[in-house]
Amino acid sequence: MTTAELIVTNARILTLDGKRPHAEALAVAGNRIAAIGSKAEVAAWKGASTRVIDAGGNTVMPGIVESHMHLFPGAVELDSLMVTGIEGIDALTRAVRDYAANRPDDAIIVANGANYTAIRPDSTITRQDLDRILPGRPFMMACFDHHTVWANTAALKAAGLLQGKTLPPGNEIVMGPDGLASGELKEIAAFGPLFAMTPTQGREGLGMATGEGPVPAATAAQRAADKVALKRGLAYCASLGITSIHNMDGNWYQLELLDSLREEGALTARVQIPWHQKNTMALERVDEAVAMRARYQGDMLYSGRVKVFIDGVLESMTALMLDDYPGHPGHRGQPLFSAEEFNALATRADKHGLQISVHAIGDGGVRRTLDGYEAARKANGARDSRHRIEHIEVIHPADIPRLKELGVVASLQPIVGLGVPGAPLEPCLSRIGEKMPYAYAWQTLRESGARIAFSSDWPVSPLDPFLGMQAAMTRRPALPGLPEQRQSLMNTISAFTLDGAYAEFAEDRKGKLVEGYLADVIVLSGDIETTPPDEIAELKPVATVCDGKIVYEA
Ligand SMILES: [Zn+2]
Repeated sequence: MTTAELIVTNARILTLDGKRPHAEALAVAGNRIAAIGSKAEVAAWKGASTRVIDAGGNTVMPGIVESHMHLFPGAVELDSLMVTGIEGIDALTRAVRDYAANRPDDAIIVANGANYTAIRPDSTITRQDLDRILPGRPFMMACFDHHTVWANTAALKAAGLLQGKTLPPGNEIVMGPDGLASGELKEIAAFGPLFAMTPTQGREGLGMATGEGPVPAATAAQRAADKVALKRGLAYCASLGITSIHNMDGNWYQLELLDSLREEGALTARVQIPWHQKNTMALERVDEAVAMRARYQGDMLYSGRVKVFIDGVLESMTALMLDDYPGHPGHRGQPLFSAEEFNALATRADKHGLQISVHAIGDGGVRRTLDGYEAARKANGARDSRHRIEHIEVIHPADIPRLKELGVVASLQPIVGLGVPGAPLEPCLSRIGEKMPYAYAWQTLRESGARIAFSSDWPVSPLDPFLGMQAAMTRRPALPGLPEQRQSLMNTISAFTLDGAYAEFAEDRKGKLVEGYLADVIVLSGDIETTPPDEIAELKPVATVCDGKIVYEA
């Protein structure tokens, strides 16, 4: 009998396998689970060189399948100043000056994660504010949602933005009363020149930008720097128990970087990279997704999905709604694709056998996406397509049953649910108005029979899946009389593991702990089943195993 390289024992194992929900120990041989069962059964796999981890009676579960995140931008942000939660010009000044003092050679000082209201409650932030925070040196501060960046006068000057500039629709350099840029920059074409001054020159954003932009040829030194950034992001993922990543931005460049990490044995999580089809691209460009799938189809790095943005976000009223925004007659948001354009795109991608994942936040965006999936099914015939909708922050009740009918996966981010303790209700509450019963309707969607996968949307929201689990399990109705949408423990865990595996057609080999499955396993610092829901975010992985290898140990 072969022996195991790794045994995890004395554990409370949540297998996610309906036939045997719990076990005490498991053995790993190669990159697979060789045995799972009682301590005694698994002990038989122990050899002279077997590494044994004693879980101390704590939870062991499948590795997290992170169903919606942005690895490269998140990884780059880890090296910037995070100002999440820092409010007021004095506190910001202290944080930024401390940070800048240690970065004497940076061409621009970068802060990330700011709130619109970081300086004043009316959401205005000007270049003069940023001049006060850091005078003389170029300084930029990005909003957590990555749709707005603010810059000081030195940065605007250095990037050639101070006098303003004509930009494609949807992008804006906001001009001040003095005829110069106010400091507020909306969307990538406006703030791209600032990112060009950073060490990665904005290459991390090219797979995410909704505007068109070729990937510049990177030099060997730049590629090496970008790989260092990606490694930092992967290490962070491993520390949080993430063993599979559904990346939501993608291009050939990221695939090449990750493939070279894979060859070096440094890819510590499985990564799926999509083709990002932008609304400015010719329809035929979606065929590149077929070439990506053909080139990358391993268990560690793979492609075969198309990512599309159909609308924007509620905060800026760019999410596409079926009705006018409350208090804003005639305003229903900005579709990035017409119904005809999206139907044609969905039909073409579906015909190639590709999976489609669409960012759709408003009920109008969700309906247009479902209509496109239905058009594709009509044209190409029904198949197990598992097309996805990302976010679904508002849905019309008539569209709820269509998710199950069309086999669509609902890819949701618990951390942004209104009613999650600590999360601000405004401005989204006012944007949604009377539609709140169908907003962030996790349990309503689940009960309709739709498949639900949970994720973070990092770096838009914090990556920690245990924070997401706590949010899913502790949310309360945001207003009296709204339906209860909070999730049970096992539904939450399943949405972060097995359902994520389903969302990528991999439930036959991961997302559960059963013999023969890929060995993606995490050992936790406590027993999740006996941890009160409002303390789940305190749990942390003490060991993460991906593809049979220990990729993180506390
Ligand atoms: Zn996203």
